[in-house]
Amino acid sequence: MAKIIDGKAISLAVKDEIKAKTAELASKGITATLAVILVGEDPASQVYVKNKKKACEYCGIRSLSYELPADTSEEKLLELIDELNKRDDVNGILVQLPLPKGMDEDKVLDAISPDKDVDGFHPVNVGKLSIGKKGFVSCTPAGVIQLLKRSDIEISGKECVVVGRSNIVGKPMSMLLLKENGTVTVCHSRTKDLKEVTKRADILVVAIGKPKFIDASYVKDGAVVIDVGIHRMEDGKLCGDVDYASVEPVASAITPVPGGVGPMTIAMLMYNCLSSVCED
Ligand code: NDP
Repeated sequence: MAKIIDGKAISLAVKDEIKAKTAELASKGITATLAVILVGEDPASQVYVKNKKKACEYCGIRSLSYELPADTSEEKLLELIDELNKRDDVNGILVQLPLPKGMDEDKVLDAISPDKDVDGFHPVNVGKLSIGKKGFVSCTPAGVIQLLKRSDIEISGKECVVVGRSNIVGKPMSMLLLKENGTVTVCHSRTKDLKEVTKRADILVVAIGKPKFIDASYVKDGAVVIDVGIHRMEDGKLCGDVDYASVEPVASAITPVPGGVGPMTIAMLMYNCLSSVCED
């Protein structure tokens, strides 16, 4: 039976550490402030934004909320970002994705100052990650590293296979595993014989975006399996990219969905907000 990696408990531990640090900073008159921008009324985005604000409150981070109508022009949004970039009392800026159709997501994200880019999506921060310099790191893959470390799972020297090469999960995930001295392989939709590659993995990170895609036939006995995927099924239940019931018996450790990687994303966002005002 696999060890269940409890993302809920680990994310709470991370948030409690942040809370202690922000209280210490507050006593020196320093407060981290996150500006959250939401354009439009997408219900899922509204929930994400609400959860981010709640986490800020828990961690002692001030949050400013900008909720703009769906027909806001790109120019107006860029003006707001420019204003927030210039404000000394704003340390982090987050634009909730997806943006309404017609807006150039890259242009908007690139407009955020790299020093306030707490999502870690700006090309400058992506570049810093790839050359091993300190910068903001994309929250979901950063959360995966915390899950592994805090579960005492050694990464150094291990065969790490990442399935998925998106800019927000797969690519930064591979960079972070490499930084931790893993031997990293990245798979994608053009990978020939995916099973042959995934079966080599000591640590398998799955971010495909397809419900229950990875079953036991893709997994080596005793592998650590991290499921980044999240899907709502027709019966209302959540599931990941991994077929949990099939994989759990062969894995040595596994993240559940929900309660695995998901809660870590917000915790690492809070971590990035904190690091926007202090070095360690
Ligand atoms: P994307 O759709 O951007 O990327 C999916 C990747 O999977 C692509 O690189 C694609 O390859 C690859 N892929 C698709 N089909 C296959 C296949 N049959 N074999 C091998 N590779 C394949 O997804 P994201 O990275 O944004 O997200 C992945 C999952 O993680 C989603 O379920 C998403 O909801 C979830 N997610 C969860 C978060 C959390 O907080 N828990 C945060 C972010 C995402 P190619 O590049 O060739 O097209």
